[in-house]
Amino acid sequence: MTDEARASQLEHALVSVRERVDSAARSVDRDPLDVTLVVVTKTWPISDIRSLHALGVRDFGENRHQEAEQKAADLDWLDLRWHFVGQIQSNKAGRIAAYADMVHSVDSTRLAHRLNSGAHHHDRKVDCLVQVSLDPDCERQDGRRGGVGAGDVEEVAAAVETAGGLRLRGVMGVAPLGGDAPAAYVRLREISDRLRARFPNAAVVSAGMSDDFDAAIRAGATHVRVGSAVLGQRPALG
Ligand SMILES: *Cc1c(COP(=O)(O)O)cnc(C)c1O
Repeated sequence: MTDEARASQLEHALVSVRERVDSAARSVDRDPLDVTLVVVTKTWPISDIRSLHALGVRDFGENRHQEAEQKAADLDWLDLRWHFVGQIQSNKAGRIAAYADMVHSVDSTRLAHRLNSGAHHHDRKVDCLVQVSLDPDCERQDGRRGGVGAGDVEEVAAAVETAGGLRLRGVMGVAPLGGDAPAAYVRLREISDRLRARFPNAAVVSAGMSDDFDAAIRAGATHVRVGSAVLGQRPALG
């Protein structure tokens, strides 16, 4: 495919994703501008990120440190916001704090401390979301997707809030595999409401992916993480 053909493919996909965001928001009387579209570009090349930037996208998500770090370095001259959405090995946390603007996947106090050290080291403030497990009746059914149980959200949130280099901004959730995504997003919103009673600045709800972000927006998501609906099916692994 030529570069122009790819750019026009991305433009059409982006227009239709934006239409879905708009209509989901309007269906529950929300302002579509209150929903941030984070385009998840994992596995896709820098050229796609530049095309999307030219189409007005500023928020990009990645889930693997090495790839994210490289892309952030290659594009550091562009005004982008990098969202780290993947599981974090704690020995990588310090380096992620060097380029990530928002880390969606903080799921332990230990990880919060590591991110905080990195943020201090690089003299940055990093926005953080506490990742909540939305798997039914189990804290960590799927270790790869992670997240803390609802009962531990406040403890991790407090660790973020009191760390000087981090800013507690809210919660993130991944719908359970094969489960009821809309119900999971309603639950996440309830957890968010409770957290916000104690931490008023924790207003972000990051929820929803290509297949179900409409339901997430109807349940109150402020950030949707969309990959394949914009970029196409990822080649294996993603
Ligand atoms: C890959 C990924 C997404 C985007 O998934 P799509 O189904 O391609 O939209 C969202 N959130 C996380 C955490 C991801 O890893």
